[in-house]
Amino acid sequence: MNKYEESYKNISTYKNLLNMCGKSMMELKELVEKETPKMVIIAKYSGTYIPPKCSVCGNSILNYGQHYCEDCGHKLDYPNEDENQMRLL
Ligand SMILES: [Zn+2]
Repeated sequence: MNKYEESYKNISTYKNLLNMCGKSMMELKELVEKETPKMVIIAKYSGTYIPPKCSVCGNSILNYGQHYCEDCGHKLDYPNEDENQMRLL
């Protein structure tokens, strides 16, 4: 392998590494976003219980307090109990 070929090979390896790094960063960003809790959407109480909804995909959360959405896998957050009690009164 002459010096030109060697340089070309080194540069393309470097370029591939940069691409891989960029891809990993995107994947990591996606994971960080998914692990950041999002507040569920709670419908106003109107006589019948309506389960909260995932604010990312709109899926109904059947087990109040579950940590992750079954549909999109996003981490969920709930209003604290006191606020919730106030809402029901
Ligand atoms: Zn969801």
